[in-house]
Amino acid sequence: MARIRVDKDSCIACGVCWALAPDLFELDPPTGKTRVREPYVKNDNEKESIGEIPDALTDAAKNAASSCPTGSIVVE
Ligand code: SF4
Repeated sequence: MARIRVDKDSCIACGVCWALAPDLFELDPPTGKTRVREPYVKNDNEKESIGEIPDALTDAAKNAASSCPTGSIVVE
């Protein structure tokens, strides 16, 4: 199990993470930024979106995080 966090303040909604890890990330319509998808999201608000993901999806999350142009995704 890994924890992922998206910083909505710095996200520029480029869509890279949606394309690389569509099971994990999606557009959050109210903010126009990225949020963690169901069923993984644990806390989502205007500032950040936090989720817990199974080990099988950790590589996809790390790939999205390393490809995010603003460093808005953290995988712990
Ligand atoms: S890759 Fe980064 S900047 Fe682009 S939509 Fe995802 S979180 Fe936002």
